[in-house]
Amino acid sequence: MRPFRYVRASDPDAAARAVAANPRAKFLAGGTNLLDLMKEDVERPDELVDLRRLKMTEIKPLRGGVSIGALATNTETANHPLIRQGYPLLTMAIVAGASAQLRNMATNGGNLLQRTRCPYFYDTAMPCNKREPGTGCGAREGLNRMHAIFGWSEKCVATYPGDMANALYALDATVRIRGAGGRERTIPIDEFHRLPGDTPEKDNNLQHGELITAIELPRSNFAKNSYYLKVRDRASYAFALVAVAAALELDGGTIRQARVVLGGVAHKPWRSREAEAALAGKPASEESFRRAAEAALEGAKPLAQNAFKVELGKRAVIRALMRAGRLV
Ligand SMILES: Cc1cc2nc3c(=O)[nH]c(=O)nc-3n(C[C@H](O)[C@H](O)[C@H](O)COP(=O)(O)OP(=O)(O)OC[C@H]3O[C@@H](n4cnc5c(N)ncnc54)[C@H](O)[C@@H]3O)c2cc1C
Ligand code: SF4
Repeated sequence: MRPFRYVRASDPDAAARAVAANPRAKFLAGGTNLLDLMKEDVERPDELVDLRRLKMTEIKPLRGGVSIGALATNTETANHPLIRQGYPLLTMAIVAGASAQLRNMATNGGNLLQRTRCPYFYDTAMPCNKREPGTGCGAREGLNRMHAIFGWSEKCVATYPGDMANALYALDATVRIRGAGGRERTIPIDEFHRLPGDTPEKDNNLQHGELITAIELPRSNFAKNSYYLKVRDRASYAFALVAVAAALELDGGTIRQARVVLGGVAHKPWRSREAEAALAGKPASEESFRRAAEAALEGAKPLAQNAFKVELGKRAVIRALMRAGRLV
C-alpha cells in the first residue's frame, strides 16, 4: 500500500474543501471498497479525508417521503422502520448485498460509488481503460461472462456491481450533494451513474470534491407490491449475474404503474421503460409479465461469453414481477 495522508473532517464543508483542493485526495467512509482498491494498487490517493465523524447518519421523514443520510450504514438503513414499512424493496436490495459484517461498515454514499468488479480492473498487470485510460479493455475479447449486455462501448464492457442502487432507481430517488463553498445540488438517481462511452474512467456525474450528503426518496405507492431478485453464482459474497428490482402499483387486478430495473447487465442500473410501458394498464398476470420480460431484454447485445444473461434476465424479470404481484 502506498503512503497517504489521513485527515479527519470536522464538518461537511471542510471535507468537501479538503478533497476539492487536492486532485489526488479521496473521501473515506466505511472503507470496504476504497481500502481494498488501495491495497490492490488500483486506487492511489495521496490523502484520505475521513467522513465517519460527520453527522450525516439520520434517516427521517421528508416531504411525505424520506431522507437517508449518506453516512448511515447499509444495516441501519435496511432495518429502519421508515424503510422497512415504506420502502421494503430497498431493504430487500440492501440485504441481498455483501454480508452482515460488510453491511455494518458500508455506508449508503460509499455503496452508490462502489467500483466495478471486472477482474481486469483489479489486476494491474492487465490492460483496463477504466483503471488506466488508453491501455485497452481486457474483457472485451477476454473473460466477459459477468459483463454487460446493455449500454457497453468498445472502451469498456463492465457492469455496475451494486444492489442498493437498483432499488433506488425503481423508487425514483434523488442524490443530494454538497460541493466546496457549501454549494448544494441534487441529481435524479437515473442521471447519477454513467454509461462508459469514451470515458469509462468516469463512473458517475459527481465532480471531484463533491460530497454526497443524503439520498432522498419520494412518497411511494410500491410498498405493498415490490420484490428484489438477485441471481448469482453462490448465495453469499457474490455479485449479481442478473438482478431485478420490480415494483407494481395495483388498482385491484390492474397495474396502474410499474418499475423494472435490471442490475448486473450494464455500467449502471438498467431501468427498462419498455417493460414498464408494457405493464401499465394491463392485468397483473403471468402473461403480462412475460410480455414485459420480452420488452426488457429486447435490445440486449451480449458479448462472447454472456448470451445466457438474456434468457436468465427474462426469467428473472418474470419471477420478480410474479413475487411483486403476489402471484407466487
Ligand atoms: C467481499 C465483498 C462483497 C460485496 N458484495 C456486495 C454485493 O453483493 N452487493 C453490493 O451492493 N455491494 C457489495 N459489496 C460492496 C459494498 O457494499 C461496498 O464496498 C460498500 O457499500 C462501500 O461503502 P463504504 O462506505 O465502505 O465506501 P468506501 O469504500 O469508504 O468508499 C467508496 C467510494 O465512495 C467514496 N465516498 C464514500 N462516501 C462518500 C460520500 N458521502 N460522498 C462522496 N464520496 C464518497 C469514496 O471516496 C470511495 O471512492 C461487497 C464488498 C465486498 C468487500
Ligand atoms: S470492462 Fe471496463 S473495467 Fe473491465 S477491463 Fe474493460 S475497461 Fe477495464
